[in-house]
Amino acid sequence: MLTEAVILAQGNELTQGLTLDTNSHWLASRLVELGITVRRVMTAPDRLEDIVEILRRGAELAPIVVSTGGLGPTRDDLTAQAAALAFGGSLRLHEDALAQVQARFVAFGRVMAEVNRKQAVLPDGCRVLENLWGTAPGFSVDSGSSRLYFLPGVPREMKPMFDRHVLPDVLARHRISAPLHVTVRVTGVPESVLEEKMQGLERPGLEIGFRTKLPENHVKLRFEPGFPAAERLALVEEVRARIGWRAFGVDSGDLAEVVGQALAARGETLALAESCTAGSLSAWVGSVPGASRYLLEGAVVYSNEAKVRTCGVDPALLEEHGAVSEPVARQLARGIRARAGATWGIGITGIAGPGGGTEAKPVGTVHVALAGPETFEEHRALRIPGDRARVVSLSAAAALEMLWRRLSV
Ligand code: ATP
Repeated sequence: MLTEAVILAQGNELTQGLTLDTNSHWLASRLVELGITVRRVMTAPDRLEDIVEILRRGAELAPIVVSTGGLGPTRDDLTAQAAALAFGGSLRLHEDALAQVQARFVAFGRVMAEVNRKQAVLPDGCRVLENLWGTAPGFSVDSGSSRLYFLPGVPREMKPMFDRHVLPDVLARHRISAPLHVTVRVTGVPESVLEEKMQGLERPGLEIGFRTKLPENHVKLRFEPGFPAAERLALVEEVRARIGWRAFGVDSGDLAEVVGQALAARGETLALAESCTAGSLSAWVGSVPGASRYLLEGAVVYSNEAKVRTCGVDPALLEEHGAVSEPVARQLARGIRARAGATWGIGITGIAGPGGGTEAKPVGTVHVALAGPETFEEHRALRIPGDRARVVSLSAAAALEMLWRRLSV
């Protein structure tokens, strides 16, 4: 049977677009991971009637309601009052909650202000949820068959409180078996193409979803509890096979991590010469722990002089073809490889925009090249639509993808 939940968030700063509601985002992924279906995510400003309305609606809709925010000491913190009003109760000072608030102030070496007593004024009959990470205690109340959990808005307090108080209570009250999630990570295949490739794989107990996480795309497989393991493994393999080498990982790290692992396993090294990406690829490759085993050098060769000086690009080629061209990308790759003494060299040159485009070479024109052992060399010309950040990100990924293709065979 489905177990359902509703997520509520409160605060003017959320409804005025000043703060991004990361609490609901985190709670949603946590609940779904546990096998709970989220029926609604609702947000209310600091207005009593609005909070009362979403609390009542939440309790009608689902047996689990998790609310964040509005537990502070100030006048705009109305959650406890709204909870009492919504379910016909009254507020009272909870001595145990007050002792907790006072203890937190002592622990922080601060003197408790009189207004902080308000944090211990909670609905009569509620269960107090201790907050070991901040001053505002949480609480839970029941309405009909629904249990509502109230947690503070500060994410670093909310998350551990969810894990300490809400999670065990939810698991004790509901029989939930968690589904199994598998993520197949893909580079260089648009979502629409992925969707097409997955046609015919649908079956009871399997949900297939797609997600873009620039510069990658993900195929998300959700297997219902009890889905036969052998069939699940075969299906994941089938998904991989349908996509081919561009499916670089299953529940793995990102492309830089996977390429890094492959390089380390083969004892090979890499050097990069970047023009339009200005070091983004080097930073990405270098962000992986242990990258020093294979990343030898990353050069930002923005100007023509830098391309000549660092990578030995022939000035005549620059003159004839321009900096954004196939021959220059190839010389960058070969040049940086030779200079660093690396197994692989990558060269990237392009027009990231928004300025600098021409009719022949519009913004988004990028040449990437890979140079490898002996005379191995490869080049790709790209036309990447979108803004500067997108062009940079997808150029870096396309270059790394070329290397992955060679390493994955
Ligand atoms: P405290 O008493 O510890 O401040 P609180 O429950 O009163 O807790 P709020 O006053 O509602 O919390 O919010 C405190 C801060 O927490 C906000 O200023 C904001 O930075 C952050 N916050 C609140 N709600 C959210 C949310 N939904 N997503 C992300 N951050 C949030």
